[in-house]
Amino acid sequence: MPIKFPFSRRAAPSDAWTKCPTCDAQVFNKQLERNQRLCPSCGHHFRMSVGERIDLLLDPGSFEERDAGLESVDRLGFHDDRPYADRLETSRLKTGLRDAVVWGIGSIDGRRVAIGIFDFRFMGGSMGSVVGEKLARCFETALSDRIPAIVVSASGGARMQEGTLALMQLAKTTAPLVRLDDAGVPLITVLTDPTTGGVLASFASLGDVILAEPRALVGFAGARVASDTVGEEMPEGFQSAEFLLAHGFIDAVVPRPDLRASLSRLLRLLPVAAVEDGQPVSADRGRGPLGAISGLAERLGGAVSETIGIDVETAADGNGTGPSSPSIPGREEST
Ligand SMILES: [Zn+2]
Repeated sequence: MPIKFPFSRRAAPSDAWTKCPTCDAQVFNKQLERNQRLCPSCGHHFRMSVGERIDLLLDPGSFEERDAGLESVDRLGFHDDRPYADRLETSRLKTGLRDAVVWGIGSIDGRRVAIGIFDFRFMGGSMGSVVGEKLARCFETALSDRIPAIVVSASGGARMQEGTLALMQLAKTTAPLVRLDDAGVPLITVLTDPTTGGVLASFASLGDVILAEPRALVGFAGARVASDTVGEEMPEGFQSAEFLLAHGFIDAVVPRPDLRASLSRLLRLLPVAAVEDGQPVSADRGRGPLGAISGLAERLGGAVSETIGIDVETAADGNGTGPSSPSIPGREEST
């Protein structure tokens, strides 16, 4: 007679835990939710949804979403192995969001900010026309309301399904930053895992202060493409937040539990410039964002077309149906 065990082996559904990509620990999802999505064994920073970011960073109940109704359309009738319209619909159902960015007005310790937050689950946080438009409106509102702007990025780059329209978002999101700069309105960017491609090559690298979460992947093209472009081996870990901090590209690596306090301190230290006679008090700023971006393009050999070579779908959908292109190795969060 077979021995009957009191508990079924199937008692825990396979989606109840996530394997930590850093220390291989099996972490219960409930535990992650309670722990700011940090691995309890090694502190690995798992990706967060927009809602979790709002709860983490903003004063409770202070967030008011803007432009919630903006929705991407398939202007090009784009089709790879699946129509773009299908991919949009799948992402909407999966995330409950209309596109990969949510923006609005909220406050941090009572200071109002215009904040844009990416959700990597929505087509890998890729930037198409709607993402670019929302961020541009976020920056324009920061300018007109004279409040600081914050963007929390998590993106595979430009949305390849929108082709040139997606690449135009680099200019659309960058242009308002020149006006913010002239007006003395600060922008703080928070680079989370991963921040790559056209998002890094536009507003994300143009913050007055650029923060990053520990071990976040931050880079322009995939590691192999970057090596091939410059024709040499790149150093180990050259696309990690820590490497970029050591080389002066970002200002601080801030562990998630300290992020809110760091932002609050920066908002206190970086007040919006005073206005005299309707004009901001002039500050002689020697360099603008455009100088920085052209410098970035130069250093990277102008490989803008490779931006969309990063497969943002593999990690996002977990079904590997994206077009064949280099994925981000070792970055998939298996569940
Ligand atoms: Zn871990």
